[in-house]
Amino acid sequence: MKEFTIIDSFFTKQNCQRKDVILPIGDDCAITQVPAGQQLAITTDTLVSGVHFPQDSSPEAIAHKSLAVSLSDLAAMGAEPAWINLSLSMPTGDPDWLARFSATLLAQCEYYSVQLIGGDTVQGPLVITITAHGFVPEKQAITRKGGKPGDLLYVTGCVGDAGLGLAIALDKHQAAAGNASYLRKRLDFPTPRVLAGNNLRRIASACIDISDGLLVDLQHILQGSGVGALLQLEHLPLSAELLAEVGQQQAIDLALTSGDDYELLFSVPQEQVTNLERSMLQCNVPVTCIGQLTGQTGKIQLQWNKQAYQLQRRGYQHFALEESVE
Ligand SMILES: [Mg+2]
Repeated sequence: MKEFTIIDSFFTKQNCQRKDVILPIGDDCAITQVPAGQQLAITTDTLVSGVHFPQDSSPEAIAHKSLAVSLSDLAAMGAEPAWINLSLSMPTGDPDWLARFSATLLAQCEYYSVQLIGGDTVQGPLVITITAHGFVPEKQAITRKGGKPGDLLYVTGCVGDAGLGLAIALDKHQAAAGNASYLRKRLDFPTPRVLAGNNLRRIASACIDISDGLLVDLQHILQGSGVGALLQLEHLPLSAELLAEVGQQQAIDLALTSGDDYELLFSVPQEQVTNLERSMLQCNVPVTCIGQLTGQTGKIQLQWNKQAYQLQRRGYQHFALEESVE
């Protein structure tokens, strides 16, 4: 299929038609309007088949995840998603694959009120690149730089599920059927915490989404803010499915070192804790306090019930962070 046929056939029938899109797909460029008082947050993610998702992933899973990872980055900044651009490289213009991919992508776009404003398709290995644009009120973006010693450290949802989901996808772990489907879903269909992210503006002092692993991503906050962290691992939110499959110790390892959960990790000044709890209750997102920022720049202390905790490293995925963890 030719490029224009692909865009015409699969990507122009969108239910989401935003008023701030002055000129949609169809010209050399799209023209959009950023509302007064808002700033634009922009993020790009590229997903390569066999690297960022298993090669046997369904077109629905690939579409869902490609959008979710970009919206998760917007969420981490407190930005509200508005528009996306899609660049799609694929070996053949398989109409069945394209129909399923585009149906899921556009349905997810509609769900988040996001409009696809541009795209490009080329022949090549299966690679999906999405650039997402979101609005954030002036000076209210949540960066990685605002954390202060004493701020409490929180995480949304549960962590570690996607790591075991990947092990299942790679046939490195045999799970009971019900657990396997939950864990694989957490890997393939992550939920970007868009609403939570928007509600964290003026509450969180720093925020990041967990894409590479809790410890790796926490380091970005620590470096950005010039602080350290003390994690109380007995508080880590672990799903019943993860615990049932690998037990507590390995679940903790996965929660700390495996990526792809796309939960938000953020710090909150103590005087904002009541606001945080009220706000997260309102948007129905579970959050758990897992520790605190400290004054020891770049240093992560792990504790279990106030005792130093040694990472067992029996997890499926290892990251080069050992030096800075004790
Ligand atoms: Mg990110």
